[in-house]
Formats: sequence, structure tokens, C-alpha cells
Amino acid sequence: MTELTGGCLCGAIRWKTTGDPLWQAHCHCTSCRRATASPFTSFIGMRKTDVTWTGTLATFASSPGVSRGFCGTCGTQVHFESDRWPEETHLYAASLDNPALYRPTAHVNWAEHVDWADLHDGLPKYPSMGGLSPPDPDAP
Ligand SMILES: [Zn+2]
Ligand SMILES: [Zn+2]
Repeated sequence: MTELTGGCLCGAIRWKTTGDPLWQAHCHCTSCRRATASPFTSFIGMRKTDVTWTGTLATFASSPGVSRGFCGTCGTQVHFESDRWPEETHLYAASLDNPALYRPTAHVNWAEHVDWADLHDGLPKYPSMGGLSPPDPDAP
């Protein structure tokens, strides 16, 4: 088990993990694209009980039952939570102190990806949520 640490740009929000990630994947959904102002974002799925927080998160409900946590001072996105996965928090991997520790295994919501994010990393590309759907046979 590797302890992962991360935080926001200004340092007011910090997080630390104490258990292994449940999954690690890139999300290409429209909501993530707009929330992060990036072509896609990369998540570390964790049990809520395995993450310790420092600082006070601001939150935004980007969809019903969804909460995106961010730093109210610098605006950095740090987590995603949904009623769909009530036991989980999804950390934004780009907030890792050491991004080299990230180990993605798939792309999810590939059906919503932007064409100018032309990715050839060999990972499976699932049209919706990874593991819940077969890979998209038309994905490059
Ligand atoms: Zn901050
Ligand atoms: Zn997403």
C-alpha cells in the first residue's frame, strides 16, 4: 500500500490516503470537462473512510446527488462524490503531490470525449462507466 497525498494549488486543502485505491481511471464526461476546464480528468476512487482531509472544502452540486469539492480560495477541484457510490470519494489525480504514482487502468465516458484529446495509451475505452459496460468497439 502506497500512501498518497495531495492538495489544492494554494495548500489550504490537503488530503491523504490510508488504504489502497478501489480503481483509477480517466473520465471524459462533459461535466468533468467543464468542472475542470480540461479535456478530461483523472480519478482515484477511494473509500471515504480511507481519506483524511485538512481544510474546509467548498462544494458544488454539478448534477442531482453529486457533490464536487474544491478549494474556496484557489478554486482547485479536489474530489467528486455521488449518491450512486455513497461509500466512495473520487480524488482528482492531478492534485497528487507526486503525479507519477497514478496508475490509471481505463478511460470512462469515452462517448463524450473531445476529438482533440487523441489518446493512444492502450487502455480500454468504455463508452460510459468502466466495468459496467463493454469497451466501445469503435473507439480508436
Ligand atoms: Zn487552495
Ligand atoms: Zn466525469
